[in-house]
Amino acid sequence: MQRILQPGDIEALDHTQPPRIRLPQPASLFAERAARLAQKAQGHPIGEYLQFLARLVRAQQQAAGTVQTAAPDPALIARAQQHSMPLLPAAEHIPTEWQGVLDQLLTTLKNEENLALAPVLSALAAMNFEARQALARRVLLGLLTEPGDLAAAPIAMAALQVVFADRASRLQERDIPYTDPATVCPVCASAPVASVQRIGARADGLRFLHCGTCATEWHMVRVKCSHCESTEGVRYQGLEGASGTDESVLAETCDQCHHYRKIAHQDKDPLAEPLADDLASLMLDLLMAETPYARASLNPLLPMAEAESAPAPSTATP
Ligand SMILES: [Zn+2]
Ligand SMILES: [Zn+2]
Repeated sequence: MQRILQPGDIEALDHTQPPRIRLPQPASLFAERAARLAQKAQGHPIGEYLQFLARLVRAQQQAAGTVQTAAPDPALIARAQQHSMPLLPAAEHIPTEWQGVLDQLLTTLKNEENLALAPVLSALAAMNFEARQALARRVLLGLLTEPGDLAAAPIAMAALQVVFADRASRLQERDIPYTDPATVCPVCASAPVASVQRIGARADGLRFLHCGTCATEWHMVRVKCSHCESTEGVRYQGLEGASGTDESVLAETCDQCHHYRKIAHQDKDPLAEPLADDLASLMLDLLMAETPYARASLNPLLPMAEAESAPAPSTATP
């Protein structure tokens, strides 16, 4: 049967066109992220924590080679495209394979000489199937309401990232709907953790938002707020260092919605990796906490209680 080409098909066929979507490649994704965290940990004020995360991401990389999630139902794809909705909202479609990944991560983390970690690992190991699925939903929705959720969230999230990246990697660019608003992941509806201006090949010089859950990247023009899509009042702020402002990671601030999200520049540092660079630039968040701009979304490997995040726009003073 002959099929009518959709706009996405035509773009995907034309390899000179800039990509709209960059689907994750889990093997290289986690390897590059772990290497970046280990590199950034050197002489860093929170170096030990970044080293721990580098080991966690390396465990994600190992687990990524063992999972195989099911291909999504074509009817779901068609419906999402018809309604300009994200394909498979994460909290409503949790592949149960994440539980096996969690067990693998727990086995690796058992070797950590970290006393604070031990009770979290045993609590996660003791949870039954239903309790784990409920935890996954709370983590994905950012509703850490149960005791112990805050400590368990980064480890649960690490396991979830592996299966969601695997699932996204099995899609084709033409499957991904054009979503409105364009500020959530078109695959899993999660918030972007940061954005990245990429170098090389078709993506050179383009800015992509990077999903904190499934690591899909979607194109958004530069100097546009990644939280409210305003093109007015967008400015950049960086950390001053001995050699001037460090421009490899900047906070993109918006005077319309009073939020900020970081942008990592590969043209300033080719190894920049959005999630790792966001964690390694925690000092920039401390600086931003003194401004009227609130962080648009949290880093999935560093969940915080709601009260600890930056002031809401309604309480902000101009
Ligand atoms: Zn996603
Ligand atoms: Zn905005």
